[in-house]
Amino acid sequence: MRVAMIGTGYVGLVSGACFADFGHVVTCVDKDQVKIDRLHQNIMPIYEPGLDDLVASNVKDGRLFFATDGSEAIRHADAVFIAVGTPSRRGDGHADLSYVYAAAEEIADLIEGFTVIVTKSTVPVGTGDEIERIIRARRPDADFAVVSNPEFLREGAAIDDFKRPDRVVVGTDSERARLVMSELYRPLNLNETPVVFTGRRTSELIKYAANAFLAMKITFINEMADLCEAVGADVQQVAKGIGLDNRIGSKFLHAGPGYGGSCFPKDTLALVRTATDFGSPVRLIETTVAVNDARKKAMAERVSQALDHDLQGKTIAVLGLTFKPNTDDMRDAPSLDVVPALLAKGATVKAFDPEGMKEAAQLLPDIIYCDGPYQAVEQADAVVILTEWDQFRALDLDRIKALLQQPVMVDLRNIYKPAALEAKGFRYVSIGRPASA
Ligand code: NAD
Repeated sequence: MRVAMIGTGYVGLVSGACFADFGHVVTCVDKDQVKIDRLHQNIMPIYEPGLDDLVASNVKDGRLFFATDGSEAIRHADAVFIAVGTPSRRGDGHADLSYVYAAAEEIADLIEGFTVIVTKSTVPVGTGDEIERIIRARRPDADFAVVSNPEFLREGAAIDDFKRPDRVVVGTDSERARLVMSELYRPLNLNETPVVFTGRRTSELIKYAANAFLAMKITFINEMADLCEAVGADVQQVAKGIGLDNRIGSKFLHAGPGYGGSCFPKDTLALVRTATDFGSPVRLIETTVAVNDARKKAMAERVSQALDHDLQGKTIAVLGLTFKPNTDDMRDAPSLDVVPALLAKGATVKAFDPEGMKEAAQLLPDIIYCDGPYQAVEQADAVVILTEWDQFRALDLDRIKALLQQPVMVDLRNIYKPAALEAKGFRYVSIGRPASA
Protein backbone atom coordinates (compact mmCIF):
# COMPACT_ATOMS: atom_id res chain seq x y z
CA MET A 1 0.00 0.00 0.00
CA ARG A 2 1.06 3.60 -0.44
CA VAL A 3 1.24 5.71 2.69
CA ALA A 4 1.84 9.43 3.22
CA MET A 5 2.83 10.37 6.78
CA ILE A 6 2.23 14.04 7.53
CA GLY A 7 4.58 15.04 10.34
CA THR A 8 7.94 13.32 10.76
CA GLY A 9 8.39 13.71 14.50
CA TYR A 10 8.71 10.93 17.03
CA VAL A 11 5.50 9.20 16.01
CA GLY A 12 5.55 9.99 12.30
CA LEU A 13 9.11 8.87 11.76
CA VAL A 14 8.87 5.67 13.80
CA SER A 15 5.46 4.72 12.34
CA GLY A 16 6.58 5.58 8.81
CA ALA A 17 9.76 3.54 9.10
CA CYS A 18 7.87 0.59 10.60
CA PHE A 19 5.13 0.65 7.94
CA ALA A 20 7.90 0.68 5.31
CA ASP A 21 9.47 -2.28 7.07
CA PHE A 22 6.08 -4.04 6.84
CA GLY A 23 6.47 -3.71 3.06
CA HIS A 24 4.42 -0.58 2.33
CA VAL A 25 5.74 2.37 0.34
CA VAL A 26 5.90 5.33 2.70
CA THR A 27 6.70 9.00 2.28
CA CYS A 28 7.32 10.89 5.50
CA VAL A 29 6.53 14.56 5.04
CA ASP A 30 7.61 17.40 7.28
CA LYS A 31 7.61 21.17 6.99
CA ASP A 32 10.98 21.31 8.69
CA GLN A 33 13.46 21.50 5.81
CA VAL A 34 16.49 20.91 8.05
CA LYS A 35 14.93 17.76 9.48
CA ILE A 36 14.19 16.37 6.01
CA ASP A 37 17.66 17.31 4.67
CA ARG A 38 19.27 15.52 7.59
CA LEU A 39 17.04 12.47 7.17
CA HIS A 40 18.24 12.31 3.55
CA GLN A 41 21.71 11.90 5.06
CA ASN A 42 20.38 9.31 7.52
CA ILE A 43 20.82 11.68 10.47
CA MET A 44 17.97 11.04 12.91
CA PRO A 45 16.20 14.05 14.47
CA ILE A 46 15.65 12.05 17.68
CA TYR A 47 17.55 9.49 19.69
CA GLU A 48 15.64 6.21 19.51
CA PRO A 49 17.46 2.86 19.70
CA GLY A 50 17.55 1.03 16.34
CA LEU A 51 15.85 3.80 14.37
CA ASP A 52 18.81 4.80 12.19
CA ASP A 53 19.33 1.22 10.97
CA LEU A 54 15.61 0.73 10.32
CA VAL A 55 15.42 3.97 8.34
CA ALA A 56 18.62 3.25 6.39
CA SER A 57 17.56 -0.24 5.33
CA ASN A 58 14.10 0.84 4.18
CA VAL A 59 15.45 3.84 2.29
CA LYS A 60 17.96 1.54 0.61
CA ASP A 61 15.21 -0.89 -0.38
CA GLY A 62 13.18 1.90 -1.97
CA ARG A 63 10.21 1.82 0.41
CA LEU A 64 10.86 4.89 2.56
CA PHE A 65 11.07 8.47 1.29
CA PHE A 66 11.28 11.91 2.88
CA ALA A 67 9.89 15.16 1.51
CA THR A 68 8.95 18.69 2.55
CA ASP A 69 6.32 18.82 -0.18
CA GLY A 70 3.79 16.05 0.29
CA SER A 71 1.74 16.69 -2.88
CA GLU A 72 2.88 13.69 -4.88
CA ALA A 73 2.75 11.29 -1.96
CA ILE A 74 -0.72 12.43 -0.86
CA ARG A 75 -2.13 12.24 -4.40
CA HIS A 76 -1.12 8.61 -4.75
CA ALA A 77 -1.68 7.47 -1.18
CA ASP A 78 -4.13 4.79 -0.09
CA ALA A 79 -3.77 6.16 3.43
CA VAL A 80 -2.64 9.60 4.61
CA PHE A 81 -1.64 9.67 8.26
CA ILE A 82 -1.74 12.85 10.31
CA ALA A 83 1.06 12.60 12.89
CA VAL A 84 1.65 16.26 13.72
CA GLY A 85 2.01 17.62 17.24
CA THR A 86 -0.95 18.36 19.51
CA PRO A 87 0.69 20.33 22.34
CA SER A 88 -1.19 21.94 25.21
CA ARG A 89 -2.74 25.22 24.17
CA ARG A 90 -1.14 27.97 26.18
CA GLY A 91 -3.31 29.03 29.07
CA ASP A 92 -6.17 26.56 29.08
CA GLY A 93 -4.71 23.05 28.68
CA HIS A 94 -6.85 22.22 25.63
CA ALA A 95 -5.05 20.25 22.93
CA ASP A 96 -3.86 22.71 20.28
CA LEU A 97 -5.35 21.30 17.09
CA SER A 98 -4.12 23.99 14.72
CA TYR A 99 -1.44 21.70 13.19
CA VAL A 100 -3.96 18.91 12.72
CA TYR A 101 -6.50 21.14 10.99
CA ALA A 102 -3.82 22.77 8.82
CA ALA A 103 -2.72 19.30 7.73
CA ALA A 104 -6.36 18.37 6.98
CA GLU A 105 -6.69 21.40 4.69
CA GLU A 106 -3.49 20.52 2.85
CA ILE A 107 -4.62 16.93 2.42
CA ALA A 108 -8.09 17.98 1.21
CA ASP A 109 -6.67 19.84 -1.74
CA LEU A 110 -4.61 16.88 -2.95
CA ILE A 111 -6.35 13.54 -2.48
CA GLU A 112 -7.36 11.56 -5.56
CA GLY A 113 -9.43 8.38 -5.58
CA PHE A 114 -10.62 6.72 -2.37
CA THR A 115 -8.26 7.83 0.40
CA VAL A 116 -8.27 6.94 4.07
CA ILE A 117 -7.19 9.85 6.27
CA VAL A 118 -5.89 8.49 9.53
CA THR A 119 -5.40 10.53 12.67
CA LYS A 120 -2.39 9.15 14.53
CA SER A 121 -1.90 12.28 16.56
CA THR A 122 -3.55 12.17 19.98
CA VAL A 123 -6.69 14.25 19.49
CA PRO A 124 -9.75 14.98 21.65
CA VAL A 125 -13.10 13.37 21.01
CA GLY A 126 -14.80 14.92 18.01
CA THR A 127 -11.63 15.92 16.16
CA GLY A 128 -12.24 13.30 13.48
CA ASP A 129 -15.68 14.83 12.86
CA GLU A 130 -14.07 18.25 12.40
CA ILE A 131 -11.39 16.89 10.05
CA GLU A 132 -14.15 15.30 7.99
CA ARG A 133 -16.04 18.59 7.91
CA ILE A 134 -12.95 20.54 6.83
CA ILE A 135 -12.17 18.17 3.98
CA ARG A 136 -15.78 17.90 2.85
CA ALA A 137 -16.11 21.70 2.79
CA ARG A 138 -13.04 22.12 0.59
CA ARG A 139 -13.62 19.10 -1.59
CA PRO A 140 -17.32 18.16 -1.84
CA ASP A 141 -16.36 15.74 -4.62
CA ALA A 142 -13.69 13.81 -2.71
CA ASP A 143 -13.99 10.11 -1.89
CA PHE A 144 -12.48 9.63 1.57
CA ALA A 145 -12.96 8.30 5.10
CA VAL A 146 -11.49 9.76 8.29
CA VAL A 147 -10.23 7.14 10.73
CA SER A 148 -8.87 7.37 14.26
CA ASN A 149 -5.83 5.17 14.90
CA PRO A 150 -4.12 6.36 18.09
CA GLU A 151 -0.52 5.46 18.73
CA PHE A 152 0.61 3.78 21.96
CA LEU A 153 4.37 3.51 21.37
CA ARG A 154 6.72 4.42 24.19
CA GLU A 155 9.79 6.52 23.53
CA GLY A 156 12.91 4.45 24.08
CA ALA A 157 11.16 1.25 22.97
CA ALA A 158 9.24 2.75 20.08
CA ILE A 159 10.11 0.33 17.28
CA ASP A 160 9.35 -2.75 19.32
CA ASP A 161 6.13 -1.19 20.56
CA PHE A 162 5.03 -0.39 17.02
CA LYS A 163 5.89 -3.81 15.67
CA ARG A 164 4.69 -5.81 18.66
CA PRO A 165 1.92 -3.73 20.17
CA ASP A 166 -0.45 -5.00 22.85
CA ARG A 167 -3.26 -3.93 20.54
CA VAL A 168 -4.09 -1.71 17.60
CA VAL A 169 -7.15 0.52 17.93
CA VAL A 170 -9.00 1.61 14.79
CA GLY A 171 -12.02 3.90 14.98
CA THR A 172 -14.19 3.98 11.89
CA ASP A 173 -17.67 3.18 10.64
CA SER A 174 -16.52 2.79 7.05
CA GLU A 175 -16.15 -0.76 5.79
CA ARG A 176 -13.82 0.36 2.99
CA ALA A 177 -11.57 2.16 5.49
CA ARG A 178 -11.60 -0.90 7.72
CA LEU A 179 -10.26 -3.01 4.85
CA VAL A 180 -7.46 -0.54 4.14
CA MET A 181 -6.48 -0.41 7.83
CA SER A 182 -6.56 -4.21 8.09
CA GLU A 183 -4.24 -4.46 5.10
CA LEU A 184 -1.83 -1.87 6.55
CA TYR A 185 -1.52 -3.79 9.80
CA ARG A 186 -1.73 -7.27 8.26
CA PRO A 187 1.90 -8.16 9.17
CA LEU A 188 0.83 -8.00 12.84
CA ASN A 189 -1.51 -10.95 12.29
CA LEU A 190 1.53 -13.20 12.59
CA ASN A 191 1.74 -12.33 16.28
CA GLU A 192 -2.05 -12.43 16.62
CA THR A 193 -2.09 -8.78 17.70
CA PRO A 194 -5.64 -7.83 18.68
CA VAL A 195 -7.06 -5.13 16.43
CA VAL A 196 -9.88 -3.37 18.23
CA PHE A 197 -12.35 -1.81 15.80
CA THR A 198 -14.57 0.84 17.36
CA GLY A 199 -16.45 3.97 16.48
CA ARG A 200 -14.25 7.00 15.85
CA ARG A 201 -15.14 8.88 19.03
CA THR A 202 -14.57 5.80 21.14
CA SER A 203 -11.14 5.30 19.60
CA GLU A 204 -10.21 8.93 20.26
CA LEU A 205 -11.22 8.54 23.89
CA ILE A 206 -9.39 5.22 24.33
CA LYS A 207 -6.05 6.97 23.84
CA TYR A 208 -6.76 9.58 26.53
CA ALA A 209 -8.27 7.03 28.89
CA ALA A 210 -5.14 4.86 28.54
CA ASN A 211 -2.71 7.69 29.24
CA ALA A 212 -4.81 9.12 32.06
CA PHE A 213 -5.02 5.71 33.72
CA LEU A 214 -1.25 5.20 33.53
CA ALA A 215 -0.57 8.70 34.84
CA MET A 216 -2.99 8.00 37.69
CA LYS A 217 -1.25 4.71 38.48
CA ILE A 218 2.13 6.43 38.73
CA THR A 219 0.65 9.17 40.87
CA PHE A 220 -0.98 6.60 43.12
CA ILE A 221 2.32 4.86 43.87
CA ASN A 222 4.02 8.22 44.37
CA GLU A 223 1.49 9.10 47.05
CA MET A 224 1.96 5.64 48.58
CA ALA A 225 5.68 6.40 48.66
CA ASP A 226 5.05 9.53 50.70
CA LEU A 227 2.84 7.51 53.02
CA CYS A 228 5.55 4.83 53.31
CA GLU A 229 8.01 7.49 54.40
CA ALA A 230 5.56 8.71 57.03
CA VAL A 231 4.80 5.28 58.46
CA GLY A 232 8.15 3.54 57.96
CA ALA A 233 7.13 1.16 55.17
CA ASP A 234 8.90 0.31 51.91
CA VAL A 235 7.16 1.41 48.70
CA GLN A 236 9.02 -1.08 46.51
CA GLN A 237 7.67 -3.92 48.59
CA VAL A 238 4.21 -2.37 48.58
CA ALA A 239 4.41 -2.14 44.77
CA LYS A 240 5.48 -5.76 44.55
CA GLY A 241 2.84 -6.87 46.99
CA ILE A 242 0.03 -5.22 45.06
CA GLY A 243 1.49 -5.65 41.57
CA LEU A 244 1.47 -9.42 41.77
CA ASP A 245 -2.31 -9.16 41.87
CA ASN A 246 -3.28 -9.61 38.21
CA ARG A 247 -6.09 -7.13 38.59
CA ILE A 248 -3.51 -4.46 39.40
CA GLY A 249 -0.38 -5.53 37.49
CA SER A 250 3.22 -4.62 38.29
CA LYS A 251 3.89 -2.05 35.55
CA PHE A 252 3.88 1.69 36.23
CA LEU A 253 4.28 1.16 39.95
CA HIS A 254 7.75 2.69 40.31
CA ALA A 255 7.73 5.63 42.66
CA GLY A 256 9.74 8.59 41.45
CA PRO A 257 9.85 12.35 40.98
CA GLY A 258 6.51 12.55 39.13
CA TYR A 259 5.62 11.77 35.54
CA GLY A 260 6.76 13.97 32.65
CA GLY A 261 7.34 13.51 28.95
CA SER A 262 5.68 14.44 25.71
CA CYS A 263 2.34 12.76 26.43
CA PHE A 264 1.10 12.27 30.00
CA PRO A 265 1.18 15.92 31.12
CA LYS A 266 -0.54 17.31 28.04
CA ASP A 267 -2.94 14.40 27.59
CA THR A 268 -4.17 14.41 31.19
CA LEU A 269 -4.75 18.17 30.93
CA ALA A 270 -6.57 17.81 27.62
CA LEU A 271 -8.81 15.07 29.02
CA VAL A 272 -9.68 17.26 31.99
CA ARG A 273 -10.62 20.06 29.58
CA THR A 274 -12.71 17.83 27.31
CA ALA A 275 -14.52 16.31 30.26
CA THR A 276 -15.26 19.73 31.74
CA ASP A 277 -16.50 21.02 28.39
CA PHE A 278 -18.87 18.08 28.08
CA GLY A 279 -20.14 18.65 31.62
CA SER A 280 -18.74 15.34 32.89
CA PRO A 281 -15.71 16.22 34.99
CA VAL A 282 -13.00 13.60 35.64
CA ARG A 283 -12.08 14.47 39.20
CA LEU A 284 -9.58 11.62 39.61
CA ILE A 285 -7.58 12.98 36.70
CA GLU A 286 -7.88 16.58 37.88
CA THR A 287 -6.36 15.45 41.17
CA THR A 288 -3.69 13.41 39.38
CA VAL A 289 -2.59 16.52 37.48
CA ALA A 290 -2.46 18.65 40.63
CA VAL A 291 -0.65 16.01 42.72
CA ASN A 292 1.92 15.39 40.01
CA ASP A 293 2.63 19.11 39.48
CA ALA A 294 3.14 19.59 43.19
CA ARG A 295 5.37 16.53 43.39
CA LYS A 296 7.75 17.67 40.65
CA LYS A 297 8.10 21.00 42.41
CA ALA A 298 8.67 19.35 45.80
CA MET A 299 11.62 17.23 44.65
CA ALA A 300 14.15 20.05 44.99
CA GLU A 301 13.15 20.30 48.63
CA ARG A 302 14.34 16.73 49.16
CA VAL A 303 17.76 17.70 47.87
CA SER A 304 17.78 20.76 50.09
CA GLN A 305 16.79 18.64 53.09
CA ALA A 306 19.65 16.22 52.41
CA LEU A 307 22.02 19.19 52.75
CA ASP A 308 20.40 20.54 55.92
CA HIS A 309 18.24 23.05 54.05
CA ASP A 310 21.17 25.10 52.86
CA LEU A 311 21.89 25.04 49.15
CA GLN A 312 23.37 28.52 49.01
CA GLY A 313 26.79 28.23 47.40
CA LYS A 314 26.52 24.43 47.15
CA THR A 315 27.20 22.43 43.99
CA ILE A 316 24.76 19.71 42.99
CA ALA A 317 25.56 17.02 40.43
CA VAL A 318 22.47 15.96 38.50
CA LEU A 319 22.61 12.64 36.64
CA GLY A 320 19.93 12.37 33.98
CA LEU A 321 17.86 15.20 32.51
CA THR A 322 15.49 13.51 30.04
CA PHE A 323 12.06 12.45 31.29
CA LYS A 324 13.08 8.80 30.99
CA PRO A 325 16.04 6.76 29.72
CA ASN A 326 16.74 5.89 26.07
CA THR A 327 15.38 9.11 24.66
CA ASP A 328 16.68 12.65 24.19
CA ASP A 329 13.18 14.03 24.73
CA MET A 330 13.08 16.80 27.32
CA ARG A 331 9.38 17.68 27.01
CA ASP A 332 7.94 18.28 30.50
CA ALA A 333 10.84 16.36 32.08
CA PRO A 334 10.95 16.57 35.90
CA SER A 335 14.44 18.10 35.51
CA LEU A 336 12.75 21.23 34.15
CA ASP A 337 11.15 21.73 37.58
CA VAL A 338 13.90 20.34 39.78
CA VAL A 339 16.94 22.10 38.28
CA PRO A 340 15.51 25.66 38.25
CA ALA A 341 14.34 25.13 41.86
CA LEU A 342 17.87 24.10 42.87
CA LEU A 343 19.29 27.17 41.13
CA ALA A 344 16.71 29.38 42.84
CA LYS A 345 17.90 28.03 46.20
CA GLY A 346 21.39 29.29 45.39
CA ALA A 347 23.00 26.07 44.15
CA THR A 348 25.28 25.58 41.17
CA VAL A 349 24.20 22.61 39.04
CA LYS A 350 26.56 20.35 37.11
CA ALA A 351 24.75 17.83 34.96
CA PHE A 352 25.28 14.86 32.72
CA ASP A 353 22.81 13.03 30.51
CA PRO A 354 23.87 10.39 27.97
CA GLU A 355 21.64 11.68 25.14
CA GLY A 356 19.65 14.68 26.30
CA MET A 357 22.22 17.43 26.81
CA LYS A 358 21.79 19.07 23.41
CA GLU A 359 18.05 19.43 23.95
CA ALA A 360 18.53 20.34 27.60
CA ALA A 361 21.02 23.11 26.85
CA GLN A 362 18.27 25.15 25.19
CA LEU A 363 15.89 24.74 28.12
CA LEU A 364 18.35 24.80 31.01
CA PRO A 365 21.06 27.23 29.88
CA ASP A 366 22.33 28.12 33.35
CA ILE A 367 23.95 24.86 34.33
CA ILE A 368 27.33 23.27 33.68
CA TYR A 369 27.18 20.35 31.26
CA CYS A 370 29.73 17.60 31.89
CA ASP A 371 31.25 14.80 29.81
CA GLY A 372 30.29 11.98 32.14
CA PRO A 373 28.88 11.16 35.57
CA TYR A 374 32.26 11.32 37.31
CA GLN A 375 33.06 14.75 35.94
CA ALA A 376 29.65 15.97 37.11
CA VAL A 377 30.20 14.63 40.60
CA GLU A 378 33.69 16.09 41.05
CA GLN A 379 33.72 18.61 43.92
CA ALA A 380 29.91 18.50 44.22
CA ASP A 381 28.16 18.56 47.60
CA ALA A 382 25.56 16.01 46.55
CA VAL A 383 24.64 13.84 43.61
CA VAL A 384 21.02 13.57 42.45
CA ILE A 385 19.85 10.73 40.21
CA LEU A 386 16.99 12.10 38.18
CA THR A 387 16.74 9.67 35.24
CA GLU A 388 17.42 5.94 35.54
CA TRP A 389 19.75 5.50 32.56
CA ASP A 390 21.40 2.04 32.65
CA GLN A 391 24.85 3.57 32.97
CA PHE A 392 23.88 5.12 36.33
CA ARG A 393 22.84 1.77 37.76
CA ALA A 394 26.34 0.48 38.29
CA LEU A 395 28.38 3.55 39.14
CA ASP A 396 31.71 3.06 40.89
CA LEU A 397 30.42 4.23 44.27
CA ASP A 398 33.86 4.40 45.89
CA ARG A 399 34.98 6.71 43.11
CA ILE A 400 31.81 8.80 43.43
CA LYS A 401 32.36 9.11 47.17
CA ALA A 402 35.97 10.14 46.70
CA LEU A 403 35.03 12.80 44.14
CA LEU A 404 32.19 14.34 46.18
CA GLN A 405 32.87 16.97 48.79
CA GLN A 406 30.26 15.30 50.96
CA PRO A 407 28.99 11.75 50.45
CA VAL A 408 25.35 12.66 49.80
CA MET A 409 23.19 10.89 47.21
CA VAL A 410 19.56 11.73 46.46
CA ASP A 411 18.24 8.87 44.34
CA LEU A 412 14.88 9.93 42.93
CA ARG A 413 14.56 6.67 40.97
CA ASN A 414 15.38 4.15 43.73
CA ILE A 415 18.09 2.45 41.70
CA TYR A 416 20.35 1.75 44.68
CA LYS A 417 19.75 -0.06 47.93
CA PRO A 418 19.74 2.08 51.08
CA ALA A 419 21.69 -0.47 53.13
CA ALA A 420 24.45 -0.75 50.51
CA LEU A 421 24.88 3.01 50.21
CA GLU A 422 24.81 3.54 53.95
CA ALA A 423 27.41 0.79 54.41
CA LYS A 424 29.68 2.81 52.13
CA GLY A 425 29.18 5.85 54.30
CA PHE A 426 26.76 7.77 52.10
CA ARG A 427 23.95 9.91 53.37
CA TYR A 428 21.39 8.35 51.04
CA VAL A 429 17.92 9.68 50.37
CA SER A 430 15.51 7.81 48.12
CA ILE A 431 11.77 7.61 47.52
CA GLY A 432 9.40 5.83 49.88
CA ARG A 433 11.95 3.56 51.53
CA PRO A 434 13.11 3.58 55.11
CA ALA A 435 16.83 4.05 55.79
CA SER A 436 18.74 0.75 55.69
CA ALA A 437 15.87 -1.10 54.04
P1 NAD B 1 6.72 15.96 17.24
O1 NAD B 1 6.61 17.36 17.72
O2 NAD B 1 7.95 15.15 17.53
O3 NAD B 1 6.49 15.92 15.65
C1 NAD B 1 5.53 16.63 14.96
C2 NAD B 1 6.10 16.98 13.59
O4 NAD B 1 5.05 17.44 12.74
C3 NAD B 1 7.15 18.07 13.60
O5 NAD B 1 8.34 17.60 13.01
C4 NAD B 1 6.52 19.21 12.76
O6 NAD B 1 7.48 19.93 12.01
C5 NAD B 1 5.59 18.42 11.86
N1 NAD B 1 4.48 19.16 11.28
C6 NAD B 1 3.57 19.97 11.87
N2 NAD B 1 2.67 20.41 10.98
C7 NAD B 1 2.98 19.85 9.79
C8 NAD B 1 2.42 19.89 8.49
N3 NAD B 1 1.30 20.60 8.24
N4 NAD B 1 3.02 19.20 7.49
C9 NAD B 1 4.12 18.48 7.73
N5 NAD B 1 4.71 18.39 8.94
C10 NAD B 1 4.14 19.07 9.96
O7 NAD B 1 5.46 15.19 17.83
P2 NAD B 1 5.32 13.65 18.27
O8 NAD B 1 5.96 13.41 19.58
O9 NAD B 1 5.69 12.79 17.11
O10 NAD B 1 3.75 13.58 18.50
C11 NAD B 1 2.83 13.61 17.41
C12 NAD B 1 1.49 13.18 17.93
O11 NAD B 1 1.54 11.82 18.37
C13 NAD B 1 0.99 13.99 19.14
O12 NAD B 1 -0.39 14.15 19.04
C14 NAD B 1 1.34 13.10 20.31
O13 NAD B 1 0.50 13.32 21.40
C15 NAD B 1 1.12 11.73 19.73
N6 NAD B 1 1.88 10.67 20.39
C16 NAD B 1 3.17 10.87 20.74
C17 NAD B 1 3.90 9.84 21.34
C18 NAD B 1 5.33 10.05 21.75
O14 NAD B 1 5.83 9.21 22.50
N7 NAD B 1 6.01 11.08 21.32
C19 NAD B 1 3.28 8.61 21.58
C20 NAD B 1 1.96 8.43 21.19
C21 NAD B 1 1.26 9.47 20.60
